[in-house]
Amino acid sequence: MSETVAPADNSAQDLVFVESCRLPTRWAEFQMHVFFEASTGKEHVALTLGQVNDGAPVLARIHSECLTGDALFSRRCDCGPQLELALQKIAEEGRGALLYLRQEGRGIGLLNKVRAYHLQDQGADTVEANQRLGFAADLRNYSLCEPMLKHLGISALRLMTNNPRKIAAMQGLRVTIAEHLPLIAGRNPHNDRYLDTKVAKLGHMIDSDGVI
Ligand SMILES: [Zn+2]
Repeated sequence: MSETVAPADNSAQDLVFVESCRLPTRWAEFQMHVFFEASTGKEHVALTLGQVNDGAPVLARIHSECLTGDALFSRRCDCGPQLELALQKIAEEGRGALLYLRQEGRGIGLLNKVRAYHLQDQGADTVEANQRLGFAADLRNYSLCEPMLKHLGISALRLMTNNPRKIAAMQGLRVTIAEHLPLIAGRNPHNDRYLDTKVAKLGHMIDSDGVI
C-alpha cells in the first residue's frame, strides 16, 4: 500500500507513505509508519501509540537521527537518552507520537559530523566546528513533519523539546503546538561543553544542572 501525502507547500518536496507495522519495544508496542521522501531518497519513520487522530493534542517528540547517540551509545551528545526518555513518557501516557527524521548531524550527514567531531577533539565547539566546515550551525528542516502528522491525523502537539528553534519552526507550519514540555536527559562529563554551547549559541533551554 502506498499513498502520496500532499506536500506542506508547493515546493518539489514530496513524501509517500509506504506501510505500517507493529513495533514492540522495551516500553510499549508502538505502530511504526514509514515514509519515503522522493526528492532526497530518505526514509523517515513515525512511531505512534494509542489513538492519535481524535483531535486532542498529542504528546510528541520530533527527533532527528543521530547514529552515534541513538544506536552506538555515544556520550558526546544527549540524543540517545532523549530518545529513550521520550518513548518512555509516551508509553507512560499510553498515547503519543515520535517522528524520527533522517537528518543526521543537525542536517550535515554522518561523514561531516565525524569531521566536525574531529575539529571538536582539537578544541572547537559544536557550532564553530560546523561553521569551519562551511555549514550553518543548524541545517535541520522540519517541514516534513506537516505531511507526516497530517497522514497520522494529528493536528496539535504537546511537544517535548528544549529547542526553541524547533518550536518556532513547527509554529511556521500548519501544526498547533498546544504545549511544550522539557526533555532533559543525558548530561555527562563528555557532553557538558556541547550542551553548554547549545544553550549559549543555539538558545536551548537547559541550565548547567540539566534542569530548565
Ligand atoms: Zn546526538
